[in-house]
Amino acid sequence: MPADDFCTDIANKLNTGILIIDSQYNIVLWNRYLEVHANKKPENVIGQNIFEIFPELPEKWFKRKIESVFQLKTQSFCSWEQRHHLFELPHTRPMTTDSHFMAQNCSFLPLEIKDNNEHVCILIEDVTDVCHYQSKLKKTLEELAQANRIDGLTQVFNRKHWEECLEKEFSRARRYKHGLALIMFDLDHFKLLNDTYGHLGGDIVLIETAKVISKLLRLGDLFGRYGGEEFAIILPNTDMVGALDVAERIRVAISKNIINFQETEIKVTASVGVAVITEADTRYEDLISHTDLALYDAKASGRNIVCVAKDVTAA
Ligand code: GH3
Ligand code: MG
Ligand code: MG
Repeated sequence: MPADDFCTDIANKLNTGILIIDSQYNIVLWNRYLEVHANKKPENVIGQNIFEIFPELPEKWFKRKIESVFQLKTQSFCSWEQRHHLFELPHTRPMTTDSHFMAQNCSFLPLEIKDNNEHVCILIEDVTDVCHYQSKLKKTLEELAQANRIDGLTQVFNRKHWEECLEKEFSRARRYKHGLALIMFDLDHFKLLNDTYGHLGGDIVLIETAKVISKLLRLGDLFGRYGGEEFAIILPNTDMVGALDVAERIRVAISKNIINFQETEIKVTASVGVAVITEADTRYEDLISHTDLALYDAKASGRNIVCVAKDVTAA
């Protein structure tokens, strides 16, 4: 059996699309894999222009690619990550994917055949599985990263992530001399509330309070659960006037919020502390401790009140 026949036999048995085009982009070889997957017989394809058989091919891009293979005589590659697919071949996987077409890795190999005509061999490899599982993995990793940032009960930022945000905002505010405000609030007599309605009742209050406050914040504000029934909000680019306005709205919103729990209505109040960044603050922890002191003042002043960090009011 002549070597050519062996090659044709192999080309037809490989689980890869193989097609060869000449310098006029006419198809000169079309293997069995393509016959099956494109549902086109070789006799209807051989001698035809590749852009007629695959009108979806990005002609300009494709010609540039093939020209460089012809000229440089080196092979070239296009992965599914660059372009999900070049050829609209349906995938045959019994799985739901984002595309009807198989994800492909395509290789472009320069061929030099006896009569000196220039040809390029295109190998089309089905990588739908790889693409599918990579996308799933990416989505799962994103979900994991998100779960790592979120407090499981209230769905606001957890303390670790919130502090990382504060650290970033703090250094940005110092570098660009922007304003930065911090609000911390703590629910009043929460222990009593837990004792009265049970831990479940307390949890519902935390969830509902976080929801109400999330709704009244701006997009750039960073809301986190600092601990038990204490929450904290970073307000980038905000001065004391703006921060006090938000703090008062938070206090009022919490005090007016009626939470339904097992046939009863629960009401709760919060004490609120506010501080803004000053020249004297060199670490983000300074801003937290000023806000915390203001919150302590609010508790000492009888609760359900907003207090401002002392050094700021004096300034
Ligand atoms: P104050 O007005 O001074 O803030 O009094 P308080 O009772 O709110 O403060 P205290 O720190 O004495 O009590 C806080 C309570 O919050 C105690 C703790 O059991 C409860 N707590 C902390 N985390 C959770 C939680 O995730 N769910 C519930 N239900 N309770 C929590
Ligand atoms: Mg409390
Ligand atoms: Mg507390």
